[in-house]
Amino acid sequence: MNNPTDRPLSTHLDVENPQNLSAYQSTGGYQGFSNALKISPQEVQQQVTDSNLKGRGGAGFSTGMKWSFVPMGENAPEHKYLVCNADEMEPGTFKDRWLMEGAPHLLIEGMLIAAYAIGADVAYIFLRGEYRLCATRLHQAIEEAYAAGWLGENIKGTPYTLKLHLHTSAGRYICGEETALINALEGKRATPRAKPPFPQVVGLFGRPTIVNNCETLCNLPSILKHGSHWYTQLTAGTDSGSKIYGISGKVKNAGLWELPMGTPAREIFQLAGGMQDGLTLRGWLPGGASTDFLMPEHLDLPMEYDAIAKAGSRMGTGLIIALDDQHCPVGMILNLLQFFAQESCGWCTPCRDGLPWAVEILTRIESGHGNQDDMDTLQQLCGFMWIGKTFCALAPGAVEPLRSGMKYFADDFQQHIDHKGCPHRQ
Ligand code: NAD
Repeated sequence: MNNPTDRPLSTHLDVENPQNLSAYQSTGGYQGFSNALKISPQEVQQQVTDSNLKGRGGAGFSTGMKWSFVPMGENAPEHKYLVCNADEMEPGTFKDRWLMEGAPHLLIEGMLIAAYAIGADVAYIFLRGEYRLCATRLHQAIEEAYAAGWLGENIKGTPYTLKLHLHTSAGRYICGEETALINALEGKRATPRAKPPFPQVVGLFGRPTIVNNCETLCNLPSILKHGSHWYTQLTAGTDSGSKIYGISGKVKNAGLWELPMGTPAREIFQLAGGMQDGLTLRGWLPGGASTDFLMPEHLDLPMEYDAIAKAGSRMGTGLIIALDDQHCPVGMILNLLQFFAQESCGWCTPCRDGLPWAVEILTRIESGHGNQDDMDTLQQLCGFMWIGKTFCALAPGAVEPLRSGMKYFADDFQQHIDHKGCPHRQ
């Protein structure tokens, strides 16, 4: 991607002080929203549907389709809400932070377009509490946007009005689940709600609400500026647009890159300089911790939703976590499961009891006190915590690295049991 317009998300970071309104406007900022104001909300929705933009929070649900469930026109309730899910807590994922610290106005412009398209008059940014620099920069950017007439009453002389609030989260992984987020925003305990009804119809304060991820919203200004056809052409694969990809783990240069959607994972590893000297790649999680392991033979897969799903995993957030040959996979999986067990909201039994039970067994195996029955119990627990048996996606997501780890690293588990200890420590 050499042409800056081919990097619709990170182009805005190329200038000095990109977080300022003047710098953002110097790179074409707010032109997409200006274009949106010239057409009807339904036409904006159509452009986004035609762009085939898929949600970047992890699930990859069609953005245009999600918006289409919001009641419009005379039958719509008086108030509707837009919420930006910026509660980025997926392990190994730090793309939304990069966007918000670098180009807060890009998010604000994306939210203006989304809010206009669904007829929302109030919008919230639900921000991870630890993201203090994001909070500072977003506060400044929101103030600038109000002062410049991009937010508030009768925006730029049109009848459209939007109030935008920044809400910092108290810091729980479950708050990233859209209905738990809505409960938290209402001041209630952050537990998921039953779906249906989906928030698009009954959401915040019982009103139609769209919850979109930060990166998803940041794609909208370029779609409205250059058109949906242009956006569909950015890809290197079949899903549209560009994507913030990244890698953590023992690569030479961990980081983030905006690349065409569908870039093969191998190219992302090459941009990271490959594994650190003396280390070999053993496996990788494609997008955060709540995805199944893939192996080095999967590196030529395009990083996009269907291709990664066909290989038995999910693209998730698109931020890869690399596992090297000197790191114990059992220890890594234990570490991830400890995180998920701690973050369970405790609402449903499989998640509340299943995750700590899995941690107990993994701790036993990792420390050399496990036995064959423990492996069978772990397999059973993976079944108990699968989709349809829990209230939300937290436990099924946690199961993904565990079940795939037991498949791909079966020998490592067996060695811990047979040799009564971790082979990486002996
Ligand atoms: P989901 O697939 O249930 O829903 C995704 C979106 O599509 C939601 O907004 C939902 O309302 C909508 N949707 C799905 N089916 C629908 C239907 N039938 N009708 C109307 N709308 C529908 O996924 P989820 O539970 O929202 O999210 C799970 C994902 O979140 C996982 O993929 C995980 O990778 C990701 N995740 C990301 C982070 C992060 O920090 N970015 C943190 C935790 C989890």
